[in-house]
Amino acid sequence: MTRSDAQQVPNQSPPFADVDLFGIDRPLQEAVAANGAGGEAAALEAGPRDAAALDATALDATALGAFGRRWGTAAMFEMARLADQYPPRLKTFDAEGRRSDTVEFHPAYHHFMAESIAAGLHASTWQADAARAGAPAEVARAARFYMVAQVENGHQCPITMTRASVAGFGGDATLAKMLMPKLMSRHYDPVLRPWREKIGITLGMGMTEKQGGTDVRANTTRAEPDGDAYRITGHKWFMSAPTSDAFLVLAQAGGGLTCFFLPRFAPDGRINALHFQRLKDKLGNRSNASSEVEFADAYASRIGEEGAGIRTILPMVQLTRLDCAISSAGMMRAAVSRAMHHGRHRHVFGKPLAEQPMMRSVLADMALEVEGAVAAVMRLSRSFDLAASSPAEAARARLLTPAIKYAVCKAAPVLVCEAMECLGGNGYVEEGAMARLYREAPVNAIWEGSGNVVALDVLRAISRDVEAARATLAELAREAKDLPGVAEAIALIVTALASDTAEAQARTVVERIAVLAAAAALASGPAAPIADMFARTRLSGRAGASYGAAALDAAETRLLLGRVLPDF
Ligand SMILES: Cc1cc2nc3c(=O)[nH]c(=O)nc-3n(C[C@H](O)[C@H](O)[C@H](O)COP(=O)(O)OP(=O)(O)OC[C@H]3O[C@@H](n4cnc5c(N)ncnc54)[C@H](O)[C@@H]3O)c2cc1C
Repeated sequence: MTRSDAQQVPNQSPPFADVDLFGIDRPLQEAVAANGAGGEAAALEAGPRDAAALDATALDATALGAFGRRWGTAAMFEMARLADQYPPRLKTFDAEGRRSDTVEFHPAYHHFMAESIAAGLHASTWQADAARAGAPAEVARAARFYMVAQVENGHQCPITMTRASVAGFGGDATLAKMLMPKLMSRHYDPVLRPWREKIGITLGMGMTEKQGGTDVRANTTRAEPDGDAYRITGHKWFMSAPTSDAFLVLAQAGGGLTCFFLPRFAPDGRINALHFQRLKDKLGNRSNASSEVEFADAYASRIGEEGAGIRTILPMVQLTRLDCAISSAGMMRAAVSRAMHHGRHRHVFGKPLAEQPMMRSVLADMALEVEGAVAAVMRLSRSFDLAASSPAEAARARLLTPAIKYAVCKAAPVLVCEAMECLGGNGYVEEGAMARLYREAPVNAIWEGSGNVVALDVLRAISRDVEAARATLAELAREAKDLPGVAEAIALIVTALASDTAEAQARTVVERIAVLAAAAALASGPAAPIADMFARTRLSGRAGASYGAAALDAAETRLLLGRVLPDF
């Protein structure tokens, strides 16, 4: 082989880059339109590329298309690789031995933070126009968050914590009033200085301790009153985004587990006593820093009543769980579109991979899974938009958030693994995006309530308000009424819940609820055949143990593959 032959590289797929992540995603377009955002598909092509069109409060397809083009560039994909390959480093002390407790990030991480904050992903849903009753602000943001998840996942952690923390301020109107203007800012300011002096800030949260993560009642971190404030002593075993300007932290006060606002600086301007011990050496999510931290008499102010910590922080957890599901659906989309792209370009045994019958079955089955996931998360986001004005939608969000978080976050690692295999050896190599996606995918199932924990939360939601849960299930059944397997799924759920082994069967119940919700969401969209295929292969019968074993005929396969990725 001559040198020039080696440089030709025939029969490898061209880079998946410089794409419009919205314009090439028909299932996403339909899902946002079905839920009140996105506008006419016809407007997709024409969108301007100016920064104003990227505003996350702009709900139309033109703005989403501009956002999709901005995030789908080769430069963005390359920066995502860099942010992962050069993970953050903890700087505990400065050169003279003074504590510094700072973290050094690759510039690519800061770039993503600045982009997402400029687009309002950390705040748009709290803005006045977004709060307009019924405006599809959650849906429009979810569409963007879904696209961002196809590029860089690590920075989504501080973005989601910042936006969700606002829900935790319910217990302190004064604090909320002071913080909101800074939280609403589209300016990313990573400099370490007191939050009062900054234009824009980000927030993190600290709940998990060594001896008890899920069971936060086992928290031993103590809070002692100190005038109007408190002093916090103890630790957190996981506290991500340690460079945030402040944290919502759970600690034991006299009246029980309580939520606190713990800033990086005390009000006297001195750096607060948060001592970062280490950064976690993680499987994935590497661009994001996750610390172990000790608090040594750290200043904090209380949010809500003493003893009301869990109640105060729960609304926030609902939002982070929603984002986990959106982000996992986005990762699934990234994986399947890359697999499809490769299949179109890579020839084996005389024709493109994507023309080989068995590969078509694999790709179509994965495409169908993503159709269900994106429909489910966008419909769930719509419930959050409507919850304030509709008790039925609030109940729907309460029941379906943990269920959909469970199902989509569990589906993502399996699907990403299969999609990685579609690229053969290239999928397994770190230069490409698939290996990173594979390392990233499991985390959303673990944090913000691991699988069993969110499944128990579904049971809790049902037992706390049986009538509301019954009404939500009836509504799902109505929306999905002509689809195969709906009646059987409802019967299974009802029987399992009534049995004295309901907890042991919780995963079965939760899976069925989530699949039913996805089928109902698809049935409410324009693509009726997709809803039918989804229900037939996921609700009525079980799809095979691996992708490619679902009973889809040639016409259905063609339809799914035509939708998943246009020839661009
Ligand atoms: C990368 C990363 C970043 C993180 N960042 C943060 C952060 O910023 N702030 C923060 O507070 N935490 C953070 N966490 C912690 C995370 O939220 C917890 O790890 C998670 O909630 C699980 O808690 P745990 O690790 O203590 O496991 P455990 O609570 O011990 O759970 C272990 C297993 O037991 C299961 N389980 C628990 N209870 C039951 C039950 N009753 N029945 C059946 N099964 C059960 C769980 O589903 C899980 O599978 C982070 C974690 C990771 C991996």
